[in-house]
Amino acid sequence: MAHLSLQGISKDFGNGSFAVKNAQLDVEDGEFVVLVGPSGCGKSTLLNMIAGLEEITEGSLKINGKLCNDLPSKDRDIAMVFQNYALYPHMSVAKNMAFSLKLRKVEKSEINRRVQEAARVLDISHLLDRLPKELSGGQRQRVAIGRAIVRQPSIFLFDEPLSNLDAKLRVQMRVEIRDLHHRLGVTAIYVTHDQTEAMTMGDRIVVMRDGLIQQTAKPLEIYNHPVNRFVAGFIGSPAMNFFEGQLARTDLGWAFHQPKGIHLSLPKILQAFAEAQGEGPITLGLRPEVIGSAQAYRDPNAPKLHGKIRVIEPLGAETYLYCDSETSNWTARVEQGDWSIGQNVALPLLSTRLHFFDAKTDVSLPIEQQTNAMATSQMGIFNEDTFA
Ligand code: ATP
Repeated sequence: MAHLSLQGISKDFGNGSFAVKNAQLDVEDGEFVVLVGPSGCGKSTLLNMIAGLEEITEGSLKINGKLCNDLPSKDRDIAMVFQNYALYPHMSVAKNMAFSLKLRKVEKSEINRRVQEAARVLDISHLLDRLPKELSGGQRQRVAIGRAIVRQPSIFLFDEPLSNLDAKLRVQMRVEIRDLHHRLGVTAIYVTHDQTEAMTMGDRIVVMRDGLIQQTAKPLEIYNHPVNRFVAGFIGSPAMNFFEGQLARTDLGWAFHQPKGIHLSLPKILQAFAEAQGEGPITLGLRPEVIGSAQAYRDPNAPKLHGKIRVIEPLGAETYLYCDSETSNWTARVEQGDWSIGQNVALPLLSTRLHFFDAKTDVSLPIEQQTNAMATSQMGIFNEDTFA
């Protein structure tokens, strides 16, 4: 069991920019934390510094309160699972799993017990005599995890462990790893570039960009309250739609307006927010499920987004419409229906779920703080008099 504390951790490879800059993170005992971000954002470098595979340029790394910056990797009580499995090809599954314990001179009977137990937990007991080349990708990854489990580490580190697996197996393995973590109760840090993996696996998610931690929070907190446009666009699939326009005061109250584009009268609950912002450029964010949902259709006064359907993705449980309007392309998640390419649509919006971002800084503008009480009291459904 371990608590991990990163205070102002930075990594400078000496090539002009920091790979990781001033990372602050506390990982609680038994927590599953996912580092996520696009390629090159510094997530593997951060993981490698925790593992002791990469030197820390600045800051302090503490495990259970003990400064570990200069502690060799082997003494950190950490086990790592890599994307490429890193199994020894000439050793059987059992020998691969036993190897690190043998190096540590653990007694043979104890090694045997731990290997059998890990194999049972991972459902690979029948594979113990096989060589890695005789295994499927998913089985190899299970062996790699087994090799980490037998060490009984305080901290598990995973570096994109599912990247080499096909889509179906990834889903299965992600459930298995989460289930395993639940049963073992160890602290885990998991690196991925896949936001779905991050959302489904993490107790908390750390979103990184260009070496900087952007936001650290629970998955739904990040989804519902992204701190900026980058996080809003990175977390969620299909991605949030962004519309650049103006907050404008009209005879009917405040509106979001694009010259020659969309015009949305803002509901009453957003009037105070708009008043506080004042007229000027702003970016509107709409998640696909906010456009054309069954709930939005039930509101006769919902503002509508107009566009023409370019692509239809009928997935069964939901349908994605990729639409074009004069100034923007956007995606809507709608119900199954009689949609057709080239069709002109006017899809209702759930006006309780709008996001706004500062047009210059891309920082989220805090609508909720000003409107939460009203939004809650109105249960998210707007009547005619809801709009100004
Ligand atoms: P990916 O998902 O592609 O693995 P990542 O988010 O894990 O990306 P890192 O591998 O941590 O990113 O790299 C962060 C930055 O540091 C990148 O700009 C990368 O080019 C740089 N970098 C990584 N390792 C080294 C190194 N050994 N020497 C110099 N620069 C490096």
